[in-house]
Amino acid sequence: MEQYQLFIGGKWVEAQSGDRTESIDPYTNEAWASVPVGNETDVDLAVKAARDAFEKGPWCTMSQSQRGRLLINLAGIIEKNIDRLAQIESRDNGKLIRETHTHLKSLVDYYIYFGGLADKVHGDVIPLSKTSVLNYTLREPIGVVGAITPWNSPLLLSTWKAAPALATGNTIVIKPSSTTPCSILEFAKLVEEAGFPPGVFNVVIGPGSRIGNYLAKHPGVDKISFTGGTETGKQLAEIAAKDVKRITLELGGKSPNIVFEDANIDNAVMGAMAGIFAACGQTCSAGSRLLLQRSIYDEFLDRLVERTNRIKMGNPIDWATELGPLANRTQLEKVQYYVDVAQQEGAKVLLGGKRPEDEELNKGLFYLPTILTNVDNKMRVAREEIFGPVLSVIPFDTEEEAIAIANDSDFGLVAGVWTNNIYRGHRMAKAIRSGTVWINTFRNANYASPFGGYKQSGYGRENGIDVIKDYTQVKSVWVETDEQMRDPFVVG
Ligand code: NAD
Repeated sequence: MEQYQLFIGGKWVEAQSGDRTESIDPYTNEAWASVPVGNETDVDLAVKAARDAFEKGPWCTMSQSQRGRLLINLAGIIEKNIDRLAQIESRDNGKLIRETHTHLKSLVDYYIYFGGLADKVHGDVIPLSKTSVLNYTLREPIGVVGAITPWNSPLLLSTWKAAPALATGNTIVIKPSSTTPCSILEFAKLVEEAGFPPGVFNVVIGPGSRIGNYLAKHPGVDKISFTGGTETGKQLAEIAAKDVKRITLELGGKSPNIVFEDANIDNAVMGAMAGIFAACGQTCSAGSRLLLQRSIYDEFLDRLVERTNRIKMGNPIDWATELGPLANRTQLEKVQYYVDVAQQEGAKVLLGGKRPEDEELNKGLFYLPTILTNVDNKMRVAREEIFGPVLSVIPFDTEEEAIAIANDSDFGLVAGVWTNNIYRGHRMAKAIRSGTVWINTFRNANYASPFGGYKQSGYGRENGIDVIKDYTQVKSVWVETDEQMRDPFVVG
C-alpha cells in the first residue's frame, strides 16, 4: 500500500494526531493508499509556514521573473511525470486514464502560461487632473491563499488556483478532498523538486467540514479559493464575509445542452455524450439537461441510445475504457437516489437507471449511463446537480422556449448550443445566462480562457489573464512633486 505524508513548510510530515485513513480505488473498491488525517494544529502549521514564506523571503524578495521561472521549471518536471501522475489520479478517483493523461499534459501549459505571465503583472501611471502629482498603482499579491478543492479533478482544479496564485507572489495551502488526496501529494514532490522555497506550497488533508472550514476561517488566510458544491460554497461565502476575506467560488451546475433541428446531428449526439457520460457525469460542466427540438426528438434519442449502448465500461486505467466508476460510495448512492426521485415525479427511464449486472463491474462503484425522458424542467432531477451519468431530456418547440428553459435554473455555469445557423448561434450565446457558452462543441477549457459561473454557480473567474485580478490587490501611490504644501483643510 502507498504511504503518504502531509507537505508543510517544505517538509514531509505525519499528521500531529498520528491518525491515518485509507484512500479507496473506486474500480476495485479496495484501499490502495494510506494517508494522514490532519487536524487544526496541522492547518495552523501550514498557514504559519505559508505566512512566513509570504512575509520573510526568499519568496517575497524574489523578482517576478524569478518566480515565473520557478513555475516554468515546474512545468518541465510535470512533463517528465505525466504518465505516473495520471495513473495515480485515475487510481485515486476512478477517472479515465485518457482524461487524466490529457489533464496532466495541460498542466504543463498552465504552468508555462502563468510562469510567463508572472513578470507581466504591473501597475499603471495614472494621469490626474492635478499635474503636480505623480500617481501610480502597484499590483500586489493578496497573501496566503487557502485553496479547497473537490474530488473530481484534483490536479487540474488545484492548478487553476495554484498557478495564478503563485505567479502573482501569493503562497498557498491546499486542502484537497479527503476522498482523493493522493495525486496532489504526489504533485507536491514535483513542486519541491522545482525549487520553490519552503512554505510557498503546502498540502493538508482532512475532513472538509472540520479542517476545510478551519482553514477558511483561519486569521492567517487572506483569500479563500474554493471549488466544490454550492451548499459548501455558501457556507464559505459567509465565513469570508465575516472577516471581509477575498473569495473565489467555483460551484455546481445544471447546464443545458440545446440541440436545434438545423444542427449537425452526428456531432450533436457526440456533444450530448461528452456532456453527460464523459467523466461519468462527475464534472461541474456536465450538460445534464438535454434540450431537444421536438422535430428531431425521436431520431436524436434513437441515435443517442444506440451510441450510449456501445459505451465501453471498465477499468479506468485501460485506454479503451469510456466510462469508469463513480468516485465514491456516497456519490453512487446519490445517483440512485435521484433516479428514484425522478421516477416518483413522473420521469421515465429510457436507458440505465441502475447498476450494471456484470459481476466484474459490480465490484467497483459503477452505474449504467442513464437517460431519463418525460422530464419537466420543474422536477428536482432537472433543477439539482446529481454529478453522475444521468441525463434529463426535455423537448422544446421554439428558440424562445429553449432560452426560457435553459435560463430557468439557479445555476449558470456552462451551456451548449448545437445549430448550423450562425445568427441563431450568436443570439443564443447572448441570451443564455452562464459563464461559458459552447457552440457546436462541448466541454472545452483552456488556461487562457476565463472559466466561472453566473448565478449560484459562483463568482470570480479562473484561467486567462483576468484571473490575475482575483489574486492581486491594487495600491495607489501619490507623490507630490510641487514643493509648495497644499491647503491642509481641503481634500485634494
Ligand atoms: P464538496 O463541496 O463536498 O467538497 C469540496 C471540498 O470542500 C472538499 O475538499 C471538501 O473536503 C471541502 N469541504 C466540505 N465541506 C466543507 C466545509 N464545511 N468547509 C470547508 N470545506 C469543506 O464538493 P465535492 O462533493 O467534493 O465536489 C463536487 C462538487 O464540486 C460539485 O457540486 C461540482 O459541481 C463542484 N465542482 C465545481 C467545479 C467548478 O469549476 N465550478 C469544478 C469541479 C467540481
